[in-house]
Amino acid sequence: MIGCMADVSAPNTLLTFEEARHTVEREAAAARPGRLEFVPLPEALGRVLAKPVTADRDYPPFRRAMRDGYALRAADLAELPVFLEVVGEIKAGADPKDVAERLAKGQAAAIMTGAPAPEGSDAVVMVEYTSLDGDRVKVTRAVQEGDNIVPVGSEAHARDVLLEPGSRMDFSALAVAASVGQENVWVYRRPVVGILATGDEIVEVDVRPGPHQIRNSNSYSLAAQVQEAGGEPRMLGIARDDSDHLQELIAEGLETDLLLLTGGVSMGKYDLVEPVLGEFAAEFFFTGAQIQPGKPIVFGRAKTKPFFGLPGNPVSTMVTFALFVRPMLEALAGQKALPLQFLHARLKSEIKTKTGLTRFLPGMLSGEFERAEVDLARWHGSGDVASTAKANCYVVVPPDRDRIAVGEWVAVMRK
Ligand code: AMP
Ligand code: MG
Repeated sequence: MIGCMADVSAPNTLLTFEEARHTVEREAAAARPGRLEFVPLPEALGRVLAKPVTADRDYPPFRRAMRDGYALRAADLAELPVFLEVVGEIKAGADPKDVAERLAKGQAAAIMTGAPAPEGSDAVVMVEYTSLDGDRVKVTRAVQEGDNIVPVGSEAHARDVLLEPGSRMDFSALAVAASVGQENVWVYRRPVVGILATGDEIVEVDVRPGPHQIRNSNSYSLAAQVQEAGGEPRMLGIARDDSDHLQELIAEGLETDLLLLTGGVSMGKYDLVEPVLGEFAAEFFFTGAQIQPGKPIVFGRAKTKPFFGLPGNPVSTMVTFALFVRPMLEALAGQKALPLQFLHARLKSEIKTKTGLTRFLPGMLSGEFERAEVDLARWHGSGDVASTAKANCYVVVPPDRDRIAVGEWVAVMRK
């Protein structure tokens, strides 16, 4: 689509929240991640794995005792109490053959958690159910064959894939890689995400704003959200509400893997983002969604690069990132698609609103254990960054609800 007028280049499509999300998911499914990097394990936190991590041997590699106690033959405990001959003690890391080549009928070996069970034993009785009497142990509780012993290879067999490509390296994944001896892992390059603020009223943080000016906060929240999602932010500054300046900076932004613009996507005379993107022959997938905050969100592609025009109101910028940008960025980072997931909590105070839009309202999740409760933050619209900073979640209000009563379960999205 070539053209410079907004009404020519951008179809005025206001999708439902689900349609908009699915559109992003469809585009994300076709995204190609960048080249591979081989990074030391501590640096892999938050990165997306590009090659599988496999088991180098069986896990556990030996029959591992799960408890401190005595390794023995379960059949020897048919009648209780019973006295067994103690042949020695097996510590974690020790070779059980040093204690007994094979445990015979009527024998037991003292054993510590994590130690290998000796040949001939088939269970471990917990030390709590025993008492030592010279070189004999008195056992007062029966065990079944296999009790308190983890069999060889029961957690994984040699060459099993333990971490799949496309998975995010979290702390537990780091533990898996460490346990199989991978000091380095293959991950995808972090996608570079261009961040471009727009608006004549916006000034940089180190500039004293005039009485009618506003500091650029969106570039900071976006850079942080980009980093959290596995991208590398590139700050492109602030474009004035001027087609030439905007065009120059958008051209620079289309050199990155994903371009994020904030502001300039509403219906005002100086909302120039859509018409200027149109000059780059942009394809627009949608130019609005039936949501609040964030209704004017724009998603498209220009010069093969995906872009989002996020509404300038700071809370709209934050929410639309979480709902739409994140899945696209994760896909460019090589991550396998994850569905958007919500928690549920009981509403603490009634919500009254209008039907027609899916709302994501800043909220405070509280309550202990399974008694999660949520209340709306007292916010003054989508420009209210301070109350959103205090919030720890967004409460989801479906488009067909104009009233939700106290005590009802509501869906909640973590901030
Ligand atoms: P716009 O979408 O350009 O109409 O902007 C909507 C509102 O968001 C206006 O009140 C802007 O001043 C504000 N805004 C736009 N960009 C930013 C930004 N980078 N940082 C903070 N506020 C912004
Ligand atoms: Mg503006």
